[in-house]
Parts: sequence; C-alpha cells; structure tokens
Amino acid sequence: MRVLNFSAGPSTLPLEVLNEAKDELLSYKNNGYSIMEISHRTKIFEEVHFGAMEDVKKLYALNDDYEILFLQGGASLQFAMVPMNLNMGGVCEYANTGVWTKKAIKEAKILEVNLNIAASSENDNFSYIPDVKFNDESDYAYICSNNTIYGTQYTSYPKTKAPLVVDASSDFFSKKIDFSNVALFYGGTQKNAGISGLACVIIRKDMLERSSTKKLPSMLKYSVHSENQSLFNTPPSFAIYMFALEMKWLLRQGGLDKINEQNEKKAKMLYECIDNSEGFYSGFAKKEDRSLMNVSFKTKNADLDALFVKEAEQNSMIGLKGHRLLGGLRASIYNAISLDNVKTLCDFMNEFKLKHS
Ligand SMILES: *Cc1c(COP(=O)(O)O)cnc(C)c1O
Repeated sequence: MRVLNFSAGPSTLPLEVLNEAKDELLSYKNNGYSIMEISHRTKIFEEVHFGAMEDVKKLYALNDDYEILFLQGGASLQFAMVPMNLNMGGVCEYANTGVWTKKAIKEAKILEVNLNIAASSENDNFSYIPDVKFNDESDYAYICSNNTIYGTQYTSYPKTKAPLVVDASSDFFSKKIDFSNVALFYGGTQKNAGISGLACVIIRKDMLERSSTKKLPSMLKYSVHSENQSLFNTPPSFAIYMFALEMKWLLRQGGLDKINEQNEKKAKMLYECIDNSEGFYSGFAKKEDRSLMNVSFKTKNADLDALFVKEAEQNSMIGLKGHRLLGGLRASIYNAISLDNVKTLCDFMNEFKLKHS
C-alpha cells in the first residue's frame, strides 16, 4: 500500500517508473543481470546513458551548443564547480533568494572569486523574488530558479548578456525553458527527475572552453567529464538508469508543455484551497512569485501545524512538515504528483479546517 508522498526531496517517483525498475531489477531486458551489476563500459549501459542524454535534449529542445553531463556530488558540488570552472577573474554575480543560493555564495567566497550579490530578498525572509539587474560584462550571473524551502519561483529568467547559471534542482523538467542566455543549467535529480546520487548539468560549449583552461583536479573539471562523455570514472549507474526511465516517462506524458499544464492546474487548486480558507491557512510566498512546485503555508499556530501533519499521516499523506528553517507546512507537488493527488490533499485540508476552526 503506497502513501501520498509530498516530500521535498528525495520525493515521489511516478509509479510506472518504479514498476519498470522493479520488473527489470533482477534481469535487465532478459539479460540475466541487473543494470546495477554490469560494467559502465558495456553497450547495454551505454544505451541507457546516452539515451538519457538524448532525451534531455529532446525534452528541453536543446541545440548542439549544449552538452549534457552526468556528475556526482549532488547539486551541492555544483556550488563549487561553477565558480571553479567559470570564473575568469571578472565579477561573479549572484541573486540571493534563499538557503540554496546562500550555500552557493558561501562556496564562491571560499574560492575567493570577485563576488557581487546583485540582488537579495533576505530582508523579508526570502518570501519573494527580487528584481535583479546583472552586469552584462560579468563572468556569470547565478540564480536559483525555484526556492524549495520558501516556495518562490522565477516566472521568467532575468535578462542579461552575461552567461546565466541556473540551479534548477527543484523545478527540473517541470516546464520548457528559454535557453537563450542560459550557459549552465543544473540540478540534483532526486527532486523532480529521479533519485539521489546524480546531478545533471546542461552546459553550453563555450563554458567547456573556459573550463579546459583551468588548473583543476580532473573530477572537478567540466571539460574532463565532457571529453569522457560523463564516463571518466564509474558513474552512478543506477541513478542514471532511474533518470533515463523518468525521461522516457516525461516523453510519454507529452513532454514539458503538457507537464507544465498539469503543474499549473495542480498549483492553482492548492493555492485556491489556501486562499479560500478564510485565513485558516496562509501561504508564505508573495503571490506573484509563488512556486508551482513547493507550496509553503501554515495554519494559525505551530500546535495546529503539528496536528495537521499527524492527521495527514493518519490519512496516508506524508512529507507535509515545513522545512526546519521556516516551520509551518509544505506540500511539494512535483511532476509525479497528479491532479487527483492534489485534490485528495485539498479535501483533507478542507475537512481539517472544518474540524479545527
Ligand atoms: C535540494 C536542493 C539542493 C541541494 O541538493 P543536493 O543534491 O542535496 O546537494 C540545491 N539546490 C536546490 C534548489 C535544492 O532544492
């Protein structure tokens, strides 16, 4: 019996994907071994690996200016790899919109790059997306497209001529993106594209040229991974396999426009439930900047929040406790959560409200 899982990450996977993995676990494509048990230098694994890269390109409609890398170290290693590889001695600019950009800024500081915080919403506990004007001449301009904890999201990316770097961990593959000035787009896959252990990095080739000029340990160098087609060392093969299944699932859903349509409906339903609760529930993020992925909200007090989490669990709904930094409640409604699932949550919320008003 499966529960309804609103966890922020790792998070719910499509049931179809889990069943495919289950069916193939002991004998991948009737070969008599699991995909976990075979060399990454075999044709069988290469088909999974390169097939997934092709599917990423298909889903985001990427041209040949971009390359896909599969790396380890989660999204967090990218906080360091970005400044290591892309800083050219000029200014590295960041828009600070929450915990994940703060962590990225911290790594850039350790690396002693020429840092500029071009905008921040820290003055109001990161409840909104600040306007930002990046310098067109900077080495790169860094944003986090969706702020997992606070539930804010960019509706469109800042315009700049500088290479834009985007941490898209928590809205990965949730909608089409205008890549026109995006130079590096990355995420850990455990939120909206598979399981933990893998970071997928979409990198523009001129950034690889920058990387190749750097004196860095091989494993920390984008150009090394590119030259080796992300098979420099043993990759996290099971995570790549799960990611590949997820990409196929996304294509079967009709691609990212279809997925986005669903995501908009889901978010609308849940925010309406909050907004129409006569103040019983209140949302955290400023309305214009609300995330379609992570809905952070609360009831009137912490005790009632705790009771909400408890009663939700009794109704087979988990993962609704807010992040420890923000408190309150949070429902993560990534791609694998259906409109029906959100309706179940809203029905529960309405009942809970009637019972405890
Ligand atoms: C979860 C998250 C991260 C950190 O991911 P790890 O894979 O645990 O390193 C970074 N950025 C965002 C936006 C996230 O949601």
